[in-house]
Amino acid sequence: MQHYLKGTEDVLAEVKSSRAGLTEQEAETRLNENGKNKLAESKKISLAERFVKQLMDPMIIILLAAAAVSGITAAYENESLADVFIILIVVLINAFLGVYQESKAEKAIEALNEMAAATSKVIRNGSQITIKSEDIVVGDIVILEAGDAVPADARIIECASMKIEEAALTGESVPVTKTEDTLLSDDGKDISLGDRKNMVYMGSTVVYGRGQAVIVGTGMNTEMGKIADAISKAKESSTPLQIKLAGLSKILSFIVIGICIFIFAFRLIKIGDFSSEVMLDTFMVAVSLAVAAIPEGLAAVVTIVLSIGVTNMSKRNAVIRKLTAVETLGSAQIICSDKTGTLTQNKMTVVDHFGDNEELLATAMALCSDAEIDGNGDTIGEPTECALVNYAAKLSLRKPDLKNQKPRVGEAPFDSMRKMMSTVHSMDGRFIQYTKGAPDEVLKLCTKYLKDGTVHELTDEFRNSILADNKRMADKALRVLCAAYKEYDNMPSSFEAKDLETDLIFIGLTGMIDPVRPEVLDAIKECKVAGIRPIMITGDHKDTAAAIAMELGIIDDPSQAITGAMLNDISEEELNRTIGNYSVYARVQPEHKVRIVKAWKQNGMITAMTGDGVNDAPSIKSADIGIGMGITGTDVTKNVADMVLADDNFATIVNAVEEGRKIYDNIRKSIQFLLASNLSEVLSIFFATVLGFTILHPVHILWINLITDTFPALALGMEEGEDDLMTRPPRSSKEGIFTGGVGFDIGYQGLLISIVTIAAYFIGHYIESGVWEVASSPDGITMAFLTMSMAEIFQSLNMRSQRGSIFKMKRKNMYLFGAMIVSFILTTTVISVPFLAEIFEFEHISIQEYGIAMLLAVSVIPIVEMIKAIQRSVKK
Ligand code: ATP
Repeated sequence: MQHYLKGTEDVLAEVKSSRAGLTEQEAETRLNENGKNKLAESKKISLAERFVKQLMDPMIIILLAAAAVSGITAAYENESLADVFIILIVVLINAFLGVYQESKAEKAIEALNEMAAATSKVIRNGSQITIKSEDIVVGDIVILEAGDAVPADARIIECASMKIEEAALTGESVPVTKTEDTLLSDDGKDISLGDRKNMVYMGSTVVYGRGQAVIVGTGMNTEMGKIADAISKAKESSTPLQIKLAGLSKILSFIVIGICIFIFAFRLIKIGDFSSEVMLDTFMVAVSLAVAAIPEGLAAVVTIVLSIGVTNMSKRNAVIRKLTAVETLGSAQIICSDKTGTLTQNKMTVVDHFGDNEELLATAMALCSDAEIDGNGDTIGEPTECALVNYAAKLSLRKPDLKNQKPRVGEAPFDSMRKMMSTVHSMDGRFIQYTKGAPDEVLKLCTKYLKDGTVHELTDEFRNSILADNKRMADKALRVLCAAYKEYDNMPSSFEAKDLETDLIFIGLTGMIDPVRPEVLDAIKECKVAGIRPIMITGDHKDTAAAIAMELGIIDDPSQAITGAMLNDISEEELNRTIGNYSVYARVQPEHKVRIVKAWKQNGMITAMTGDGVNDAPSIKSADIGIGMGITGTDVTKNVADMVLADDNFATIVNAVEEGRKIYDNIRKSIQFLLASNLSEVLSIFFATVLGFTILHPVHILWINLITDTFPALALGMEEGEDDLMTRPPRSSKEGIFTGGVGFDIGYQGLLISIVTIAAYFIGHYIESGVWEVASSPDGITMAFLTMSMAEIFQSLNMRSQRGSIFKMKRKNMYLFGAMIVSFILTTTVISVPFLAEIFEFEHISIQEYGIAMLLAVSVIPIVEMIKAIQRSVKK
């Protein structure tokens, strides 16, 4: 062990690897032998445990207890056990459904985790590939760059100013500068973890520079594995809506229990018979009402609709990492997006240049890049740098040849603060440095320029001509880079940026195009119609940024663009006031992004912010919706993001907003449907009890709840979006579940269903007896059951749109039609098949009665349509 005390070659030999990495076969063998690179997870809940958990619901326990008591009594008195069986069957079906739904939701989340799984760059068979971090084995060579998470424990074999943040392991938040050198221990004492400067450990992240390291420990054999014997998976936290609903469910439960106690007491007193039989009977009515009316289904429906929603989103390339994002997306008002790769294609090509020595320009640009040409002749690396390497290749300057002539001996890596990078190369015993980066930044460090083969002092006049050319290219939406050089007799003693990047000699500029993503044009239009403001944030030059933003329709005047430097001169209060004036931010540094997010949030706006670079984590965290990039993003940003774009595409954000709005709508429809149904049951039974008759038996309520409530509620969760989904303004984030008249709607719809149910009861009794009176009536019960079941089914149709007419909806919801037809068939079956009707204590009803029940039930459609129409006209 103690790899830090050994030389790199010794460590490579020890783990039977080399700088060319393992072969695929060898890696596979090792993976099979030693297992995945994962920390042990907490045990999963088994199916049986889940099932038991469903039955542990206090309401179900009371119901089961009640069933048991009534079963014993019935057996004792030689009565039918039908009731008990029906209750047991309903409870079982409910539990099965619960387990099924729960595991389905969990699978959806698991699949998402799988999609969001961390990846690493490794060298295998001599070339660089990307693999899942969990497939890493001992002996793999990993490539580490700024922003990468270290996937396992490894010994560094190559290091270019690499700094690692190891707070998770050492508690030290200041990044540690690493090295590939062998460490020496003082008199054989061990070196503490924080001082092992040539090692990197799982759980830490690269914050600067780059390097390579050979894996020496994976999974539970890492330092992280030692600390955390079993790290339980981070629990999905509940979304605000889920929390609100849990609170609501609790309140409603207490209200319902109160009503049940009242009904129990009232009925007993009214009947005036305290025999055990009547007591039991009354108790059953109260309990079944409680079971039926307590909206325990609410939380489940929300979870399921959310999980279906996130699955749909992932199909559209938006991978949700935190469930809360789904809700917040629906109310997004501002979308701040990076330019390169998100609004544009990130497919760069050099199309223009400035400077009279194009050969030197191309050589400098290609050598001062980390992009390479691989064995197949493909260029691999960052798009900007690939463009430069290709540009050189077109001038017959192939990167591999250039590297042979001038091998790299040191570098100051790129970072988005300096906006440049430098490399030092040996050349016939001397050394030459190339620096490339943003023209405004590099030019600040240039004191001379090269023209006609000789070096001149950089005059203001020539500087201005360079800047003019820079502007000429930028106005054409080109991304402009500047190259400079510097020569040394001896190898520089330090490769720190501040030592290398002074006194440079200007060589020239390159201009590259990066075409906009065609689909983004429509997405921007869609945003604007939907009341969402798109904003471009970029490290690029202001003129380039403004030109692209105009092309995309983000701005219509270059005055709406501002630079990071200008932002520095604006105070926080002023920015809060004037933030609305700007839609393009150019040459920004990561900390500017945080200011932009904060200013918008100060203005009460729900803000989304994308980010990819290692320093973008703070702005992603402070945004309401932090968005990471799946392709170009760093692990650091992906880990803090609420949502990751699998395709890095701006249009995907807009699609996700649309899904988010739809999911919220659907959840609200399901909730409204369920609560109105529960209310109608409570009201009907309450009314009947007060008047002293039985309108529905316990098993009937359970049936209605299971068949006619659950399925349509779930089906409503699958509604396609309403037509105005992306033409109405964003929903206010402060809006509660009952705002916008939802509370009123639930109230009148619940009342309406109970009125038709009670009417059906009396009509049923009248047809049978010929008198209008309050009396016990099996016919009345049958009619009430049929009417209530059917009314709920028709009510689910009403709920397809909160205020719109359902006859104007173009899109169909096949799930809902399916749920309706199944409910319809089942309900008709229990009433009309003799032996089933007997179990449920239904009377035979005539076709005429059936027709009346249907008419009463279907009346909820025209009545609700009329009230919706009134509501629409009042709103206007
Ligand atoms: P966006 O923020 O839209 O993704 P960006 O890629 O331009 O845009 P940064 O990566 O922060 O943002 O780059 C900032 C600037 O640094 C660029 O405009 C460019 O001038 C310069 N630059 C980018 N990549 C390199 C590189 N590999 N080498 C040298 N300079 C670079």
